[in-house]
Amino acid sequence: MKNRYAPDDLMRMRNHIDIAYLIADVLALPWKRSEGYFRFLCPDCAEFNTATNAKTNLARCFRCERNFNPIDMVMVVKHCSFLDAADFLSQIM
Ligand SMILES: [Zn+2]
Repeated sequence: MKNRYAPDDLMRMRNHIDIAYLIADVLALPWKRSEGYFRFLCPDCAEFNTATNAKTNLARCFRCERNFNPIDMVMVVKHCSFLDAADFLSQIM
């Protein structure tokens, strides 16, 4: 486990780990496709009022009014720290 990550490493985790892939295949959250959007069960409020944006690589919950990048998503789903989330993501990159 590292004590810190270089900004470049963190940027790669945020931008190059596809958020939909992370949600569906790695974290195995429930998801569905509707109206052309990939929607996932929000790990905070457990609603499907969500979408992902492939351009920004962010997942958004419209109910929580919150955006999740891949690091945020791992922290919320696994209830872990920022560094634990970075360790987890560095292993799947
Ligand atoms: Zn939510």
